[in-house]
Amino acid sequence: MDIEKIRKLSELRTHYKHMPTVREEMRNNLIRMITNKQPLFRDLKGYDDTVIPQIINAIMCGHNMIILGERGQGKSRIIRGLMDLFDEYIPVLAGCPIHDNPLNPVCADCKKNIVIHGDDLLIDWIPRDRRLVEKLATSDVSTADLIGEVDPIKISEGRTLDDETSIHFGLVPRANRGLFAINELPDLAEKIQVALFNVMEERDMQIKGFPVRLPLDVMIVASANPEDYTSRGRIITPLKDRFDAQIKTHYPKDRSIEIEIMEQEARHLPLNGLKSSVPLFIKEILAEMTLQARNSPDISQHSGVSCRATIRSYEAILGSALRRCLELGEKKVVPRITDIEATFPSIAGKLELEYGGKDRKEGEVVEELARRATKVVFDEQFKTDELTSIINSFNNGIGAVVSQSIPSAEYLDGLKNIPGLKDAVKSLVNVECQAEAASAIEFILEGLHLSNKLNKETLNGKFVYK
Ligand SMILES: [Zn+2]
Repeated sequence: MDIEKIRKLSELRTHYKHMPTVREEMRNNLIRMITNKQPLFRDLKGYDDTVIPQIINAIMCGHNMIILGERGQGKSRIIRGLMDLFDEYIPVLAGCPIHDNPLNPVCADCKKNIVIHGDDLLIDWIPRDRRLVEKLATSDVSTADLIGEVDPIKISEGRTLDDETSIHFGLVPRANRGLFAINELPDLAEKIQVALFNVMEERDMQIKGFPVRLPLDVMIVASANPEDYTSRGRIITPLKDRFDAQIKTHYPKDRSIEIEIMEQEARHLPLNGLKSSVPLFIKEILAEMTLQARNSPDISQHSGVSCRATIRSYEAILGSALRRCLELGEKKVVPRITDIEATFPSIAGKLELEYGGKDRKEGEVVEELARRATKVVFDEQFKTDELTSIINSFNNGIGAVVSQSIPSAEYLDGLKNIPGLKDAVKSLVNVECQAEAASAIEFILEGLHLSNKLNKETLNGKFVYK
């Protein structure tokens, strides 16, 4: 018989003598996955040697975790990854708001029902995705939100305040037998931190002054910005002590990981039947812009520069290339250097400028990131003395006009007229594809300009290299 078809407590008892706690369940599944060489936390990139082993350790030990990291370091991915360690379904007492363990219920209603109905009580099976309760901490989160409050309806039905069955449960009890994730923990008011601590440590709660003993079975994972967490007074010491494992996340240590994350997370833009191809140098420039931002003295590093900056700019640059394709009737969506401008609105909102840099406008800072990133990627690709024949052509009076809206075919004259350009383009993309060739030509010209080999002027929204 399929165990998940069981509907009555009496049947369940024949299959289970003991129901594993959340920690036991996660640990058992983790051990099984490691033994079977199943991949763990597949969607987490760049954490194989740092964060993932620490999480595994914490689960093995049944530790409550605090994840410390700047924004966009995959904290919610970690939490979703933890849910993979849950059983697909677990049995609960039907109708219980806190998913009571059928063999050992803790809420007053279930305890009462078991006395009345005994083994005839009904069982529900809940899927793993219903066992996560996530909350963003803010200063106005109340004890009622988190722990619970007296339910006025139940009181009006004649129950008394000190009757445990008159409680309306908050988020933590509702995460019973699952995972409670609280983000930005230091933003929680001190009083609420105390309440959370009591649940974790003493397993008791106080609701409107009435103590309620409720031995919850819940795994707690919190997250915080590392500076906020360590700064004095933001977190009450006893609560800090209750987090047994402190796990520090980080941004990708190299650009290829940043690119992998970008490709994994970007939303797929519907291309109206067109095909797209994004040259590697474009991806590298977008990722490098974020890497540069994380090291820029003009940008506040307190909250960090999220991987979302790279992801959203990837989407934006494809959007810009798609617009061109539709306007010009081209068939292939290939972003160019002149499309990078279209990413600025997506990036700007993800940066906080330093106070000292206030006299510099956000736009200037982002433009400089783009220039620096393009130069870095260009220098990795070419040495300017390999491109002397191209530079000479310009010295001899050739000019080139580029812009977001010029058809790709118009770039191709350059391939014939400028010796060496075709070879340089070939080293980057498929030269037979007009749109790819146009994109590569822009990259080479801009790179030479940033290396002080070509002049660049702006003319009616177009750029002229001389
Ligand atoms: Zn219950």
